[in-house]
Amino acid sequence: MNNFNLDEIEIVMFDLDGTIYYGDKIIPGANDVVKQFRECGKRVYFTTNNSTKTRKQIFERLIKMGVDVLEEEVLSSGYLAAKYAKKHQFDNIYILGSDDLISEFRNEGVEVYQKEDAKNLLIGYYPNITYEDMTIAVRVAMNADNIIACNKERVYPGKDAKLFPGCGAMTSIIEWCANRDCDLVIGKPNTMMITYICNINKVNSSQILVIGDTYESDIIMANEAGSQSILIGYKDKYVRSVDRISDILDMI
Ligand SMILES: [Mg+2]
Repeated sequence: MNNFNLDEIEIVMFDLDGTIYYGDKIIPGANDVVKQFRECGKRVYFTTNNSTKTRKQIFERLIKMGVDVLEEEVLSSGYLAAKYAKKHQFDNIYILGSDDLISEFRNEGVEVYQKEDAKNLLIGYYPNITYEDMTIAVRVAMNADNIIACNKERVYPGKDAKLFPGCGAMTSIIEWCANRDCDLVIGKPNTMMITYICNINKVNSSQILVIGDTYESDIIMANEAGSQSILIGYKDKYVRSVDRISDILDMI
């Protein structure tokens, strides 16, 4: 099932880690695929479950790699979480995550409160997590009105294409110790990113093509939303898939 009707597609939604780049290195052919879709008149988005950096920092990283991108075409689970918290007036929120994730929330005008009597909890990917951070977050979680997770990814492909523990490493600590589940998961495979893009661009989810390297997040999200998808790096007769992102050039 390797063919799709390009005319039906309005928006191409690229994953980042393992699709456009590994760590600080762009994947060969990625930029050509982005350019080719733009030349066909498609709008593009760059989406990531990674919540350590702000939207602006991700945008700047893409620019440094030579990718043709606008800041508003970048969506991360952290950015969307901050938008969601603002919209639903989740103030007094403790953030288990990087300083950059905290500034993303403050930039959106959300009241961040880094103490154990906070009312709400947001869990992001946090490679520098300490036992003290965990302790405060678990205490917040036990009494929180809402626990939001940026995502529950087990692992993600990083530097040199190697796998690293993902945000799921942080959410599982909190869920286990506080003995309760997160109330909301923002990132993939949740369809919130697709809904956000559809609302802004006034398109249907069936007009979106998702391109990603992880079946459990990218492809399940696309299937749930009724969007089309291409899986990179696997050969699977049940899923539209290619070995390398550059192979997509033959399909456009
Ligand atoms: Mg990926």
